[in-house]
Order: sequence, then structure tokens, then C-alpha cells
Amino acid sequence: MDSRLHDAHGRRITDLRVSVTDRCNFRCQYCMPADGLPWLEREEILSFEEITRLVRVLVSIGIEDVRLSGGEPLVRREFPRLVGMLSETDGLQDLSLTTNGYLLERDAEALVENGIQRVNVSIDSLARDRFFQITRRDSLPQVMRGLEAIAAFPQVHPVKVNAIAMRDFTEDEVLRFCDFARSTDYQVRFIEFMPLDADRAWTPDSVLTGAEIRALIEAVHPLEELPREPHATARVFRFTEGGGEIGFINPVSEPFCADCNRIRLTAEGKLRTCLFSVNETDLREPLRSDASDNDIAGIITDAVWRKELKHRVNEPGFIAPPRTMSAIGG
Ligand code: SAM
Ligand code: SF4
Repeated sequence: MDSRLHDAHGRRITDLRVSVTDRCNFRCQYCMPADGLPWLEREEILSFEEITRLVRVLVSIGIEDVRLSGGEPLVRREFPRLVGMLSETDGLQDLSLTTNGYLLERDAEALVENGIQRVNVSIDSLARDRFFQITRRDSLPQVMRGLEAIAAFPQVHPVKVNAIAMRDFTEDEVLRFCDFARSTDYQVRFIEFMPLDADRAWTPDSVLTGAEIRALIEAVHPLEELPREPHATARVFRFTEGGGEIGFINPVSEPFCADCNRIRLTAEGKLRTCLFSVNETDLREPLRSDASDNDIAGIITDAVWRKELKHRVNEPGFIAPPRTMSAIGG
């Protein structure tokens, strides 16, 4: 395998997140404003053929794993067809999806038939009124049906459930999620709130850290840490009493930048080398001119070489990127 994707800090890049749309059917407090954002025009968004070509080039130079995200990927018309096109990429090892689950009941079967290998569903509360409060949509029952629909396919197991960890919200969810993780096959993971919200409400204090959540859990259920997989962003624990696993993704309180192997492609074809990048590299213009695959590979390897050493969320003078999470592709 050709492996040209290295940065100047000695990290090999093997993981790509692709945002397939900036649009979303939810308006999560920590991500989008209540009224939504100005959407990209149709012609600004990469076509399925353009995404497939870029992924093929990226895999040929070292990408191994691709996760499809957004916005909400399932609102993109014929999204399962894109999954089918990407799953035929020679050398791609893992093709996965992050979704809010609202349309999963409709699409689960088509996604699996087209080759999706793993699915994460974002659910921030297991109580209907609080789910409504955080997502601004009264959709928990629909999302739970979607979760069950995808979990009916053993080939995509384990299905992971991701919950944002926000102070004065998530505390009340923690034990409910523990019961859920212990009584089902889902691995529940708490993700620290990051300063990528459109409302710019994030403050350091608004993050409920993984350590704080662990303390809340361990007051009731002892936990044992499992060995960490290489480049895993989550620290995963099992309940000592048995049944279920719980994970913590702590980008704010325990940054994992030194081990980062990830880059991102936005829906309109900008390459981002860090979630918090303030500079991006346009790939759409070369794609739509007569650039060869080799030319595009060269643009990508140059950009990756300049990948940021680390994010500076915890440093004075931190500047949040102009894009919010939904426009980056989380
Ligand atoms: N719409 C899909 C979903 O919600 O799963 C995919 C896109 S969403 C931007 C991807 C992930 O980013 C979700 O798990 C979401 O909870 C997370 N996310 C959004 N805003 C965030 C923020 N400010 N801090 C941390 N995670 C965030
Ligand atoms: Fe939409 Fe996902 Fe952002 Fe929620 S987190 S508003 S579901 S893109």
C-alpha cells in the first residue's frame, strides 16, 4: 500500500471523514442555530461521482477508513447509492456512518445492502422531553425505531450511540444511559462538547468532562478500563458487575492530537486537516478542471504535510473556526 499521507509531525493519516451534505433535519443546540444556516446550493456540493473519485485517490495514497457524516447524511437524496459506490473502492478497509437516526428506519436495509460496515447514532437523551429540548425536534421515538432497525443487522454490530456531554444537561442522562448500555448491545459513548456550535454558547465550563461523568457512574457502578485500540479516540470501560460497555471521548479535557490520524472533506470539497482548522484546501476546483488523479494526490499530500500540530481549545486566544460542526462534518 502506497502511504504518502504523512504530516510534518510524524503522523500517518489513515482516517477520512466525508461530509455529504451541510443540511440537517435537526437543530441540535450544540451544533446548529434554531433557524438553520444558509444551505449550500446544489451545484456547490460534490456529486457522488466526485466524492467517489476523491475517495479513490485518497485510498490510493494511504486512507484506510472512511466515515460518512454531515449535516445529516441521510437527508441527501439517494444516499445509500453513494454508499454502494464507495464500498467498491479498492483498498478501502472500513466504511462507516454517523447519523442522527431520524431516517434510519427508512434506510437501514438499503445501507446494509450497499455495504455500510458500521453505524454510530447520535442520541443525547433517552427522555423524550429532554431530547426535544436539545435537538429542537420531538423525535426520540422515531430515532429509537431507526436504531432498532439498523441493529437488526448483525453485520454492522456493535452499533454505537454517541451522546454529547454538556454541563447542566447530561448529568441527568448518565445513569439512564448506563442502564441502557447494560441492558442492550449498544456501546454508549459520551463526547465532550466542543466550541463548534453555531450559537457560540460554548464556554470551558459548559463541558461536562469524561472524568466527571465517570465519577457519577462509579458512585453507583464500578468500571474497568479496556485496552485502548491504536488511534482510538474513545477510552472504553466495562461495568465490573457485567453487561455492557461505556466510552468517553474527551477531546477537550484529554486531547488526543498527538495520535491523530484523521482528515476531513466538507460537502463542497474543502479538505480540512483538523476539526479546528482555520485554513482549508479546495479540491473541488481541481476536480472540476482537468487535474489528473496524480495532480489531486499532490495537492492532498501537500495539505496533509501541513496538518496542525494540535488544537488550541484550552489555550488563551483560541479562535474557533468560522465553520460550525454541521458544516464541517463531525
Ligand atoms: N447529523 C449526524 C449526527 O448528528 O450524528 C452527523 C453529523 S454531526 C455534526 C456528527 C457528530 O458531531 C454528532 O455525534 C454530534 O453530536 C457531534 N457534534 C455536533 N456538534 C458538536 C459540538 N459542538 N461538540 C461536540 N460534538 C458535536
Ligand atoms: Fe444535525 Fe447532527 Fe448537527 Fe444535530 S449534531 S444539528 S443532527 S448535524
